[in-house]
Amino acid sequence: MSRSWRPQTRLVHGGTQRSPFGETSEALFLTSGFTYERAEDAEARFAETQEGYTYSRVGNPTVRMLEERMALLEGSQECIAAASGMAAVHAVLMSQLRSGMRVVGSALLFGSCHWILTQLCPRFGIEVELVDGKDLAAWERAFSRKADLVFLETPGNPTLELVDIAAVSELAHRAGAKVIVDNVFATPILQQPLELGADIVVYSATKHIDGQGRCLGGLICCDAELKKNVLQPYLRNTGPGLSPFNAWVLLKGLETLGLRVRAQTEAAGRIARFLEAHPKVPLVLYPGLESHPQRALAQRQMRAGGTLVAFRVGGGRQEAFAVMNRLELIKISNNLGDAKSLITHPGSTTHSKIAAAERLAIGITEDMLRLSIGLEDPEDLIADLDQALRA
Ligand SMILES: *Cc1c(COP(=O)(O)O)cnc(C)c1O
Repeated sequence: MSRSWRPQTRLVHGGTQRSPFGETSEALFLTSGFTYERAEDAEARFAETQEGYTYSRVGNPTVRMLEERMALLEGSQECIAAASGMAAVHAVLMSQLRSGMRVVGSALLFGSCHWILTQLCPRFGIEVELVDGKDLAAWERAFSRKADLVFLETPGNPTLELVDIAAVSELAHRAGAKVIVDNVFATPILQQPLELGADIVVYSATKHIDGQGRCLGGLICCDAELKKNVLQPYLRNTGPGLSPFNAWVLLKGLETLGLRVRAQTEAAGRIARFLEAHPKVPLVLYPGLESHPQRALAQRQMRAGGTLVAFRVGGGRQEAFAVMNRLELIKISNNLGDAKSLITHPGSTTHSKIAAAERLAIGITEDMLRLSIGLEDPEDLIADLDQALRA
């Protein structure tokens, strides 16, 4: 029945399991372990001949409700939770890779994903090639040799460049590789990678799914076979489980995800158009603008432009810092997807570990700022940006 619900209904009711008390809101099972009536029950649970929980590193009812709601939203057979977005990314890669395998990724990645691929994987004899994600010919060249996994992020952080999920998935499958999409920036509300041909979707639930800056979490949406045989043994035995408390916060966050993302996206569109018309702003990058260099692709694979806007202020780092320091309402923070609008200078924070020349090559200039739009009245955000740019 829940599979026939429309997305907004899934977000509110999906996965709910009520205890005998009949509580309205989902129960928080803040427990590390579980008890058994009889020794034979413990034996049967461990033999997996009896349904039920044994230990929260292995499974917990509140975490399970979150996983089921998320699988329903994404349209995947299954979902598995982890303690953070990076715990999810680490698990989805390292549980599947062996020495001698080869990964192809998009170059524009979240800093820690870039680290796992370029620093950690080679230590274990895993070959990694990063390509310019917007260049289909570069993907095609990378797939001229056998590949095992693809890892890509679209829109990419922080320049909001897109990767054509459908085209890359087709090329990857022909080369024998499975495609993992980091869908944090688009959110499950605005982009559905599985429908476009991807195999696995990962989220930092810390971002829009919580949406109110309270806790960390990660989610992997995939098929039942991969979960049961590969991800579940890896996560259960290595231990980056999601706290039931955080799962409960994220579960409640999902109820309002659609409302928040749609409101934040509408505000982001208005702010992007305001910035584009501003005399002090030489460039705005936003997938919802006519001027986005991949506008047609944005319209094909995203329902709307999303909640993040990148823009340049002209000059260098000093000018960018001055604009940030004059902002009164918009807070300086490297986080994103929050109810509060947040601004960051990627070159000195999230992307500071990337060599300056490479940073410039992927479009991260010294005067670039990344703005995550929150739930404030957009007119107040526009007024704040205007005074900071004009001063
Ligand atoms: C934040 C983020 C991550 C990592 O998630 P954490 O919850 O911080 O561990 C991965 N990918 C993208 C695109 C992100 O924005």
